[in-house]
Amino acid sequence: MPMEPWYCRVCGLDYDESPWGPDGHSPDYTICACCGAEFGYQDYTPDSAREYRAQWLAAGAAWFYPNMKPPNWHLNAQLQQVPAFYR
Ligand SMILES: [Zn+2]
Repeated sequence: MPMEPWYCRVCGLDYDESPWGPDGHSPDYTICACCGAEFGYQDYTPDSAREYRAQWLAAGAAWFYPNMKPPNWHLNAQLQQVPAFYR
């Protein structure tokens, strides 16, 4: 079975494993390395994801963990990976 990446509902960063657990309903409350959203809180609903995304973008879209930012990072390309339901 090919591994499906999981994409942050706020910023679209890809993860090897979903922080929402195998059942999709058990968030681990870790922090997105890019947008800083707490999984299970700011990404709980489409509205909360949109609200946090707007704040993050307005604040300059800085990486929460800057040392994990890829050198060739492109914000707009990553934002396109946000699941449609949460855009
Ligand atoms: Zn994120």
